[in-house]
Amino acid sequence: MKKKRPSAKSVYVLADLQKGIDPVIRLGVFGDPVEHSLSPQMQNAALKQCKIEMQYARFHISPSELREAFDLIRKLEFVGLNLTIPHKVTALEFLDGIDENVKRIGAANVIKTESGKLRGFNTDGRGFSRAVREEFSVDLRDLRILVLGAGGASRAIALQCAKENCERLVIANGTFEKGQNLAESLRDFFSGPKVFGPVPRLQAIPWEERAFQFQIANVDLVVNATPVGLHRGDASPIPARLLAPHVMVYDTIYSDKRTPLISAAIEAGARAANGLSMLLHQGALAFEIWFQREAPLEVMRKAIL
Ligand code: NAP
Repeated sequence: MKKKRPSAKSVYVLADLQKGIDPVIRLGVFGDPVEHSLSPQMQNAALKQCKIEMQYARFHISPSELREAFDLIRKLEFVGLNLTIPHKVTALEFLDGIDENVKRIGAANVIKTESGKLRGFNTDGRGFSRAVREEFSVDLRDLRILVLGAGGASRAIALQCAKENCERLVIANGTFEKGQNLAESLRDFFSGPKVFGPVPRLQAIPWEERAFQFQIANVDLVVNATPVGLHRGDASPIPARLLAPHVMVYDTIYSDKRTPLISAAIEAGARAANGLSMLLHQGALAFEIWFQREAPLEVMRKAIL
């Protein structure tokens, strides 16, 4: 028999169930699909460690259910939520407020409820920055960075790279205009005096082998922020023969230790890491937004390893 997935209705049911559930559910993740999410195990470990008497659940909410689900969250006095695919962008129209980061990125991955109002935040960029420091012991400001993709995750990552004044930023996207728009939106950050020879500090490039080949020689960090590699049989977004030992490779995909891009990096003699550390740090930052206290990072890490 097909397992019934929880829907927005299940949030309704939750209102009645609250008395029976111990500890009470006051946090969760909305997604469609959402079964793959590691956030419940990570956040529940943090709640337990901090002796906060509530739990975090996953909710399968379809796009058409989102508005109703938000209304229920307000009524049920949730502390907050995480948003995952496909709600990070569309949720903005239902929120009561967003921070500056969300305004620029156009996507929220964290919601905090404040006196019945829903406020959106985005912790992906800062989570990425902390992950890179942890994995490679370097700061974004010291790096020339190639970002693959121009969707929600790429916009958060690219903005963070720009804010931290990275040495160079290159955006490669399938739909070239989208990559170009993202690069242009960050132009102000790159007007400073850093000069690095014949290559521009900020640029969008087409998703083409020749363009990758040229850029690899002129970057230190390659970031995959596309879903390429998520599905069985996917090829690496950049083949091993185009990579080189001097680059660091960060794949935001975390479902696999050895994504196709990571395998290609290893084959090329490059250092590589998957997106688990970004997941951890964006989750820790979300916890800090909800509770205004330091997140128990090591307990959260252990819960998702
Ligand atoms: P999104 O908004 O849908 O954007 C997807 C991007 O990938 C677009 O730029 C799209 O290009 C590109 N793309 C899709 N299929 C492609 C293909 N076959 N070849 C080349 N480019 C392709 O998605 P998102 O929310 O940014 O998420 C992207 C990835 O980031 C996901 O895999 C997710 O797992 C990961 N992520 C990880 C974390 C973490 O904590 N580790 C957090 C957030 C996201 P077009 O514009 O041409 O369509």
